[in-house]
Amino acid sequence: MDVRAAVAFEAGKPLEVTTVQLEGPRAGEVLVEIKATGVCHTDEFTLSGADPEGLFPVILGHEGAGVVVDVGPGVTSVKKGDHVIPLYTPECRQCPSCLSRKTNLCTAIRATQGQGVMPDGTSRFSIEGRKLHHYMGCSTFANFTVLPEIAVAKIREDAPFDKVCYIGCGVTTGIGAVINTAKVEPGAKAIVFGLGGIGLNVIQGLRLVGADMIIGVDVNPAKKAWGERFGMTHFVNPNEVGDDLVPYLVNLTKTREDQIGGADYTFDCTGNVKVMRQALEACHRGWGQSIIIGVAPAGAEISTRPFQLVTGRVWKGSAFGGARGRTDVPKIVDWYMQGKIEIDPMITHTMPLSDINRAFELMRAGESIRSVIVY
Ligand SMILES: [Zn+2]
Ligand SMILES: [Zn+2]
Repeated sequence: MDVRAAVAFEAGKPLEVTTVQLEGPRAGEVLVEIKATGVCHTDEFTLSGADPEGLFPVILGHEGAGVVVDVGPGVTSVKKGDHVIPLYTPECRQCPSCLSRKTNLCTAIRATQGQGVMPDGTSRFSIEGRKLHHYMGCSTFANFTVLPEIAVAKIREDAPFDKVCYIGCGVTTGIGAVINTAKVEPGAKAIVFGLGGIGLNVIQGLRLVGADMIIGVDVNPAKKAWGERFGMTHFVNPNEVGDDLVPYLVNLTKTREDQIGGADYTFDCTGNVKVMRQALEACHRGWGQSIIIGVAPAGAEISTRPFQLVTGRVWKGSAFGGARGRTDVPKIVDWYMQGKIEIDPMITHTMPLSDINRAFELMRAGESIRSVIVY
C-alpha cells in the first residue's frame, strides 16, 4: 500500500515528505495507522549523523500512537481497532531478560531491530523498489507502519493520540526512571540535571512519588518557570554558581541534623559526561544514587574517583525508564487520564507531517519542549 512518510535519505539533510510503499503484516506482526507522533532528541541524534549505528535511508520516529488496522497470522494479543502505542523496547515475556524480572531490556528482536529490519530480516518499507530501513522498530514518521506484536502496548480508547504519543518515549523515560529505576521514596531529596522534555518528566515523577526537595539544574534561565510548573522546588543555574557546582548543590541539601549533605537521588538528562560526574558526586555519601538517562555522544566515557563509589554512591543507567512496555505503558496512560500526571503543557507545538522539518528546527533551537506531528 502507498503511505505518507518523512524519509531521511541521508544524515544531516532535511527529511523528505513523500509517498512510500508499505507491505502488510507478516506472521506475528501488526499494521498500525499512526495518528500522532512526537519528535524526540534521539531522532535528531540519528538524523544528524552523530549516531554510529544510524542507517540510511530510513523512516525515523519512535514516539507514536495509533490504531491497529490489520494483523498477521498468529497474532493473539491485539486485534483490529485496538488503540496502541509502539514500543522501541518490546516486551515478549519469554526471553531470558523478560523472565529475569531484573530488566526491561527484552532481547527477543534486539538484533534485527538494530539492523533496521523486522524480525524475519526484511523491511516492510520501500520507495520505488529501493529498501527503506525501519527505525528503533517503530518508524512513526509514516501514517502507517508495521510492528511486531510484542512491540505494541494496547491502551484505552478514550486517550487522545496527540497527547499520549509522548508516553511512547519521553514521559515514560522520565517518570519510569524515578519509579522503576531509582524507586524514589516519599520525602526524598533529588537533583535533576537538564530540564528538557525528559528532565521535566523526571520532575513530575518526583512530585508524583512525594519527593520533598526537587532541585532543577539548567544553564537556560527560561527553564526555571518550566521546572516550577511541574513541581521543582529549587532552581540552580550552573553559570551563576561557577566551578563549585557540586559543593553548592550539596550545601543546598544540608539540614541541621545532616551536615554531610548530598541528594538521595540525582538524574542526568543531559548526555554530557562532565555533568554525569557532577550528578554522581552531588549524591549523599553512603546511599545516594545517580541515574544516567541522557544519551552521550559516540565514544564518550564517564569518570570519577573510585572513592566516590567506595563510600556508597551508586551509578545506574535507565533505558525507557526501566518500563516493561506492554505492562507499564497502559498504566501511565491511565495516570494521564486520571490527572495524576500532566502532558498537555509540555506539547508546545503541533503540526502536520509536511512541517516536520520545522519540528527539528524548534528542537535544535531549544524553542520547544515537545513538537507533535498530527496525521
Ligand atoms: Zn525518544
Ligand atoms: Zn523479552
